[in-house]
Amino acid sequence: MDLLAAYGWNSYFAQHLGEDNCIPARVISEQRDRYWVISISGELPVELCGRLRFEASAPRELPAVGDWLAVRLSPDSRMGMAIRVLPRKTVIARGVAGRTTQEQILAANVDTAFVVTTVDRDFNPRRMERYLSMIWSGGAQPVILLNKIDLCPDYSRLMAQTGLAFPGVGIHTLSALHDRGLNSLHAYLKPARTLVMLGSSGVGKSTLLNRLVGRDLQRLRDVRAADQRGRHTTSSRQMFRLTSGALLIDTPGLRELLLWDAALGLSRTFADIEVLSARCRFRDCRHRDEPECAVLEALQGGVLHRSHYDNYIKLLKEQAYQRRREDPTMNSKTKKRWKSITKDLRLVQKLKRGEE
Ligand code: GDP
Ligand code: ZN
Repeated sequence: MDLLAAYGWNSYFAQHLGEDNCIPARVISEQRDRYWVISISGELPVELCGRLRFEASAPRELPAVGDWLAVRLSPDSRMGMAIRVLPRKTVIARGVAGRTTQEQILAANVDTAFVVTTVDRDFNPRRMERYLSMIWSGGAQPVILLNKIDLCPDYSRLMAQTGLAFPGVGIHTLSALHDRGLNSLHAYLKPARTLVMLGSSGVGKSTLLNRLVGRDLQRLRDVRAADQRGRHTTSSRQMFRLTSGALLIDTPGLRELLLWDAALGLSRTFADIEVLSARCRFRDCRHRDEPECAVLEALQGGVLHRSHYDNYIKLLKEQAYQRRREDPTMNSKTKKRWKSITKDLRLVQKLKRGEE
């Protein structure tokens, strides 16, 4: 396999490269607006061309780790200028709250997303629903890793419950610290496959990364940090090539995980509710107080868990709210109107179906 193919280059990206003297390069690290890429000339720092830097109308248009770029090399081939971001196959995107909520691309062109949590305190089904909605919306395949089984030997019930709650999602138990259960991950760690590791801080992501890379990464990080004005790189995102040939993107612990454009993922994560709603009397049923609502009936009959249902309603609202906040040009009249209609889940349902 040639170098680019080893980093995931394929015909999908090749068709978008164009013929403007650019070479393809994949972003392997990102810190503020500094990027490192891998290309046929090896690892290089790249800067963004003026058009990318100044004309990007949204953060989504800027490169993220995992992106393929069309890069123009400097005459000595030691630096590059990023001219374009090639179309992405998948994204891992969240909303970040500020004065306005903005989308942030955590990683691009990811095949599989490991959501790392632990069998003890960290495990939270509601947060997992949030992660899965985010991952599915961006087109990647989620896999749940329940770490620290050494701390809680009686994890089989949790494993069974998780399996029931998230059908169709791979679930693996492991102890990264004691090197147990890692063999079950080999199926995902194929050459040139791109993975990302997500999860709160303290769940064992660095420990797992060190195991999978097969050497202590601390030194590697220090070397990279020295390149970049001595700043430590733990807050940046980086891609690592594992001994198996898979590419693993490490993200720092995510404290905030607002949904962004996640309607698709919501309907998949809450497929049980979507299936039920087909039997509601009204096609635009909000499942709140309508007569002959199949969702409410399931809730009353104990078939549907209250907290699962509550989270569904909450995430739907949040998702619709984020969409409005992203537009700073909205005038106050529209804002007022929006305020009254967000209360109405009927609209949320419409948004979900794309009938805006
Ligand atoms: P990160 O913040 O997600 O990168 O988590 P770290 O890898 O830094 O791990 C946080 C703490 O949990 C460290 O003290 C690790 O040694 C510990 N840890 C990681 N994996 C395991 C495990 O499987 N079992 C136990 N008991 N501790 C673990
Ligand atoms: Zn209903």
